[in-house]
Order: sequence, then C-alpha cells, then structure tokens
Amino acid sequence: MTKTIPLLDAAEFAQQQFQQTVCNMRPAQPEISPPLPDRRQRALHDLRISVTDRCNFRCTYCMPKNAFGRDHVFLAHDEVLRFEEITRLARLFTRLGVRKIRLTGGEPLLRKNIERLIEMLAAIDGIDLTLTTNASILAKKAQNLRDAGLQRITVSLDAIDDATFRRMNDVNFPVARVLEGIDAAARAGLTPIKINTVVKRGVNENAILPLIRAFKGSGHIVRFIEFMDVGATNGWRMDDVVSAAEIVDIINAEFPLESIDPNYRGEVAERWRFKDGGGEIGVIASVTQAFCRDCTRMRLSTNGQLFTCLFADRGYDFRALLRDGADDDTLTRAIATLWQNRNDNYSEIRTANTPRVKKVEMSYIGG
Ligand code: SAM
Ligand code: SF4
Ligand code: SF4
Repeated sequence: MTKTIPLLDAAEFAQQQFQQTVCNMRPAQPEISPPLPDRRQRALHDLRISVTDRCNFRCTYCMPKNAFGRDHVFLAHDEVLRFEEITRLARLFTRLGVRKIRLTGGEPLLRKNIERLIEMLAAIDGIDLTLTTNASILAKKAQNLRDAGLQRITVSLDAIDDATFRRMNDVNFPVARVLEGIDAAARAGLTPIKINTVVKRGVNENAILPLIRAFKGSGHIVRFIEFMDVGATNGWRMDDVVSAAEIVDIINAEFPLESIDPNYRGEVAERWRFKDGGGEIGVIASVTQAFCRDCTRMRLSTNGQLFTCLFADRGYDFRALLRDGADDDTLTRAIATLWQNRNDNYSEIRTANTPRVKKVEMSYIGG
C-alpha cells in the first residue's frame, strides 16, 4: 500500500526549510557579531517580547469583542514561553546587538510573577528594559516593578474623559484607575513616563487637547499614534486614520510647538516641544510617514515565534528549537539567519487594500 505523504502548507514548509538551514550550519562558522545588518542595512537593536496574549481590556482597535469574545481560545499554559526560555533568548539577542527590550502583550502585568521575569532580564548586562501597559493594575504594581529592575514605563491611555475612555476600552474601565497607576509609576521613579494614545477618527480626536492640558508640564510625554491596520480583526480603513500632521496642527493651534531632533537614529516618534517650555510630545506616523527605513526591531510572541515585522503573516518557531534542545550557538545563528534575510518594509508599500492580507494580531506579538 502506498503511504500518503501529507502536503505542507506554506508556513510549515518555510519553518522546515528554516530549521534545516539552521541545523545544517556548521559550528565552525565565523563568530557572528554586531552590528548585524538585514538586507536593507538595518542593524538589529530592539526586541519586543509579548509575555501574554490575554488582556482585561477590549480596545476596539486591538482586541475587538467580536473577535475576542468569551469563547476566544487563548494560549494554554504549556504553549507559553517560560521565564527561563525568554531570558535565555534575550541573552542571546544581546550577543547580536540588542540593547533595548520592551515587555508587552496582551496586558503584560497580567502575567503571573512578571516581577520575577523583570528581575531575570534586568540581570542581563547593558540592556535598557521597559514595558508597555494599560495601567489597569499599575497602582499596586509600580513599586515592585521598579524594585525588580524595570527602568521606565509606557502607559496606553486614549482619553482623559471617562466616557470616551470607557467606550474605547470597551470593558467600562474607569480612567481614574489609570491615572492612579501613572501617579504611582512616577512616585516609583519609572520615569520619564510615556503616554501612548491611539487616535481614531470620529472616536477620540476630541481627546487630543484634553490630554495635552492634563499632562503639559508634568514631565510625562504624550505620544499620539496613527491608527494602524495591525491584525485582521479591527476593521481598519484609511479614512479612520487621523494623520500625525493633522494631530500636530490641532495641538499647535492652541499650544505652539517646535520640532526637536530625535534622541537616536530610528526613534519611531517624531518629537515636538512646547514653545513655552511646558515639555515635549511625540507623534508616531506609522501609516502616513513609514519609518521602515530605520526599523531595527524584532518581536517574540507569547508562544515563542519570532517575527521580523509587526505586519508579518508568520513567525518562526523558536519554542520548538528551544524545547528540541538546541544549544546556544544554534539559537544565535538561527536568530542571525532570520535577521540577515529580513527585507520587511510593509508600511512603505501599504495601500488601502493591503489590510486584507493575512497578518498576525497585535495582542499576540505586542505593539
Ligand atoms: N496592553 C498593553 C497596552 O495597551 O499598553 C500592551 C500591549 S498593546 C498591543 C501595545 C500598544 O499597541 C498600545 O499602546 C496600543 O495602543 C497599541 N495599539 C494596539 N492596536 C493598535 C492599532 N491598531 N494601531 C495603533 N496602535 C495600536
Ligand atoms: Fe489590551 Fe493593550 Fe490591546 Fe488595549 S491595546 S486591548 S489594553 S493589549
Ligand atoms: Fe518595521 Fe514592519 Fe513597521 Fe516597517 S512595517 S516599521 S519593517 S515593523
């Protein structure tokens, strides 16, 4: 009887090819050292780690209830990378030039014992460690996070007006609790605090000026982000995007601004400061002014897949490599191989139709 050989889908095939390439590389290969350029000469520098795919909010632009309802199946305990696995990979990434690690999700503060992971990562030499959170439980966690070694924090906050905020998180969560979280983070020294606001037309453009009034002069940096077509569930349309230029115009009309230089090459936020000395703000023009040219980020999903772009349709399974017993050199070479072959520039080639392409959800690989 002839045995049927199952056909592989494109993703499985690519994973097999990748695994074979990695495993066939000879250990005698010369040492791989940073800077490690990809095919567009961008050197690997940042790693975003999603520590959970779960979240207690259902922000309409990220985890809309119609796609993440009560029956949604989240990753099982065993599927999620363990702290030791995350830390091991993070350490190898630093060999290849990563200097900045951001913990994200889902909601990272929901990951049990997150402080322990922070302690483990903070022990790695020479990395800048930060975390992005919805701040729903930040008030009680801020000091522990700081004590564990977290250096700074970014809080997502889409409006200061309670009704708008509750509508956007779609779980009726009060803004006051987020503001308590921001205050606690400031007291704990997780500064400068960045406050990320996604702006969606017809939903929260009216929140821009109230946010500026609330935080101007506080030392916190509000950064407005263009609504992006991440994933395939948030119903993105180009018409819903309020451009960074429009946002700057709205603010500048009431609080005159002047532009300032980036802190470093590849910084995603365009920086502006108030002419009256009231501090700075940022705008992240991910849709209208693509910054792929300087994109130096890799993303590790909750279940251990590596993604070379936020808009990638597939990742590479490092959990399988880790759990199959790959040694450090094999893992390092695997990361380097992926990075060196990276050619992503999705935001530069986005059109109103590209959102239909299959893409991974933001809550799975982190923002
Ligand atoms: N739950 C945490 C939070 O909200 O801060 C961390 C994960 S969340 C996916 C990371 C960031 O992605 C947040 O600042 C969020 O506003 C942003 N984000 C999510 N969906 C987005 C979209 N469609 N366009 C632009 N930014 C988005
Ligand atoms: Fe949750 Fe953050 Fe996504 Fe909102 S943006 S649903 S808080 S993961
Ligand atoms: Fe980087 Fe991809 Fe975003 Fe371009 S589209 S900036 S390559 S993550």
